[in-house]
Amino acid sequence: MTTAEQKQEPEFIQYKYPRTQHYWHALGYQTRAVEGFKQGKIMATKCSKCGRAMVPPRIVCPECYVEVTEWVDQGQRGKLVAAFKIGYPMYDRRTGESQVWDKPVVAVQMEGGALLDGWCSETDLDKLKPGLLLEAVWRPEEERIGAYDDVLHWKPVEK
Ligand SMILES: [Zn+2]
Repeated sequence: MTTAEQKQEPEFIQYKYPRTQHYWHALGYQTRAVEGFKQGKIMATKCSKCGRAMVPPRIVCPECYVEVTEWVDQGQRGKLVAAFKIGYPMYDRRTGESQVWDKPVVAVQMEGGALLDGWCSETDLDKLKPGLLLEAVWRPEEERIGAYDDVLHWKPVEK
């Protein structure tokens, strides 16, 4: 026989971000990419064998298994490959809160050849066709932290 008093709510272990812990992390070869973001540049490594440009930069090409030592500035523009919207609230790792995302997520083929993703300022998906030229909009230089979201969003280039 079960009564209301015997039923127990499940116990969840919870914690909130951001944590108060601070730590130092050695970036190794990624340092060049981080410094690039601070200077408003998207830096990729490029395989000398197949020509593949990689963001985030990799030290070994995953196709050719050769060491990659060449760095290439990817430029400020790229072509839209794909776009979609997130239709539900999602966790924001910066704030630890659930958030509704108004801006679409876009995949961008950079001038330098690398493929990366980000947010787009244009919220009308009907206007986001593959091949659309997009340009990076950066966080003000004094606010950059050397991370991918130093690029606030991508905006369509007006013709
Ligand atoms: Zn390769």
